[in-house]
Amino acid sequence: MKKLFVNKEACIGCGACVAIDPEHFDFGDEGYSEVISQENIESANVQNAMSSCPTNAINYAETAEDEEEEHQCEHCEKKGCCNHNDEELDEEIKGDFNSEAENAA
Ligand code: SF4
Repeated sequence: MKKLFVNKEACIGCGACVAIDPEHFDFGDEGYSEVISQENIESANVQNAMSSCPTNAINYAETAEDEEEEHQCEHCEKKGCCNHNDEELDEEIKGDFNSEAENAA
């Protein structure tokens, strides 16, 4: 079943999602956003909160494994650094990554 979650490694606690959709998001004890409801998770408000998140910390997971994978960036060593993914990774970032990888080798 599809699940809505906030990547706590990526969340910067800006509050945009909480302001846009308080039905689904609230601040946890550490000051970062948490999902508080899994009801109606494809609503327009959830979509708006997702697109307004400056770090792309809000995502859907199909399985617990998906959720875990979202915490790992395969393009650099930082956890939840910026939610790089192949579709969004532009050539410049790819080039930087490749040269870093070459330097490290
Ligand atoms: Fe965190 Fe994104 Fe929500 Fe801001 S909009 S509090 S960064 S999840």
